[in-house]
Amino acid sequence: MSEMQDLVRQLLAALGEDPDREGLRETPRRVDKSLTFLTSGYRADIDQIVNGALFTVEYNEMVMVRDIDVYSLCEHHLLPFFGKCHVAYIPDGRVIGLSKIPRIVDVFARRLQVQERLTMQIAETLEAKLHPLGVAVVMEATHLCMAMRGVEKQNSVTVTSAMRGVFHQDPRTRAEFLELIHPGGPAGSVRRVSGGGDDSESI
Ligand code: ZN
Repeated sequence: MSEMQDLVRQLLAALGEDPDREGLRETPRRVDKSLTFLTSGYRADIDQIVNGALFTVEYNEMVMVRDIDVYSLCEHHLLPFFGKCHVAYIPDGRVIGLSKIPRIVDVFARRLQVQERLTMQIAETLEAKLHPLGVAVVMEATHLCMAMRGVEKQNSVTVTSAMRGVFHQDPRTRAEFLELIHPGGPAGSVRRVSGGGDDSESI
């Protein structure tokens, strides 16, 4: 039995369970496997993912990937938080294969996280790899540590954003991005938290 499986067995016993009863007998092995997968981002190599997918293109309009599914684990409670991530950038002669953007999101999501840092790391990575005119990341997520424990309203959504370059400097570019996330939507929560500085914010 691996160290992690042994620890999960101890955890089950500490919770007052019988780790040897039929339904739990394979649980340490399953938890080991699932936690290893859910934290596989620690062992992923961003350069390997990105390299070979960067292309020189004379295109300087906004590129956006909307509604990327995000599943991560909050580092404070080891409980899931999940939702949607919207990523946009304005190239400066260099673009990235579109399928790589959700992969970058996964690399950082499959770690123990706080939503603010996850949002920032995605923006920083695109900034470092593409040197674009600007990067914008907005994440909308439900945290089970809040919902299941009744800390907040069950349906509350935490919104974080990271705005870099022109998305930070130019309110019109930022507004265009936010309009693309929620077309025709009211000037709601996303707008409210996205007006700030380069650091990601949360509400
Ligand atoms: Zn938490």
